[in-house]
Amino acid sequence: MTTESGGKRLKPAPFDYTAPRSVADVVALLADDEHDAKVVAGGQSLIPMLNMRLARPTVLVDITRVPELDRIHVDAAGALHIGAAVRQARAVADPAVRDGWPLLAAAIARIGHPQIRNRGTVCGSLAHHDPAAELPAVALALDARFVLTGPGGTRTVDAADFFVATFQTALEPDELLTEVVLGPQPGRGWAFEELTRRHGDFATVGVALVLDRAPGTSTVRGARVVFCGAGPVPVRLRAAEDALLGTDAGERAVRAAAEAVLTRLTPADDIHATAVHRREAAAHLLVRACTSAWERCS
Ligand SMILES: Cc1cc2nc3c(=O)[nH]c(=O)nc-3n(C[C@H](O)[C@H](O)[C@H](O)COP(=O)(O)OP(=O)(O)OC[C@H]3O[C@@H](n4cnc5c(N)ncnc54)[C@H](O)[C@@H]3O)c2cc1C
Repeated sequence: MTTESGGKRLKPAPFDYTAPRSVADVVALLADDEHDAKVVAGGQSLIPMLNMRLARPTVLVDITRVPELDRIHVDAAGALHIGAAVRQARAVADPAVRDGWPLLAAAIARIGHPQIRNRGTVCGSLAHHDPAAELPAVALALDARFVLTGPGGTRTVDAADFFVATFQTALEPDELLTEVVLGPQPGRGWAFEELTRRHGDFATVGVALVLDRAPGTSTVRGARVVFCGAGPVPVRLRAAEDALLGTDAGERAVRAAAEAVLTRLTPADDIHATAVHRREAAAHLLVRACTSAWERCS
């Protein structure tokens, strides 16, 4: 595999490829000390990393041929299960996702371009954990649970503990993220807003918002405010949530929530934007998100 880029030849280090048919076989390969095995799902992040030699696994373990990972379903308790081989395009087209988890559907639609979503998986984006990616913020906003399978068995990790640092999660090298589980969306009001330099880019900064309105009232009884692109992990801003809780989500409350962003959010400077620009954009995005989320609550 050789590609040309700006006159430079990009080529991965040599690797073997295997496509097992069961989770047990995937885990056995990951746990085998003789090889430096790495999972490949959609390959939309991993293959560029291989080509730039930022990763040099000796074996790629393709998980997209494992039938038990290629499932998306809602269980009897109303939770959505998305298996590791489920592509982003399939998840966003699923009527159950669009009806029950519209925040997730909206965020997936913001990922890259159709070609990326046709190959990239939901779990791959979560396992990769680019801090500018949309799905980790949504997973935190929706209290996702991550099911990890390794040689010692299966464990479940809450979203608040899964994202550890930039490109780092609670996954051990010999563990597979077998599925992500989302309970019912905790409110009918939702919005996903982001700032990007160009259509399809990763977010410079973005916000996932869920609002819940107390029945028969015009009072906010639940709020989730989570930013992407604002730190090494998705940032839940409780001060902004507190500014909205118990209010009518009117101008005053929304202004207080935006003020919380300006005083509490601490993004970093990088080549894409200054911290100040990110913070101000985040406050604007939250104002816009509050308006559309509250309309959806009505
Ligand atoms: C041009 C371009 C634009 C993009 N734009 C965006 C964007 O705007 N927003 C965005 O969020 N993403 C974007 N992406 C990334 C895209 O969403 C990827 O699909 C995603 O980050 C990784 O999913 P994947 O299935 O392709 O994983 P892969 O590339 O196959 O894997 C990525 C990493 O996760 C690990 N991994 C994957 N699945 C598992 C698993 N089940 N268990 C354990 N480890 C696993 C792999 O070992 C690897 O380290 C873009 C990609 C490209 C090429």
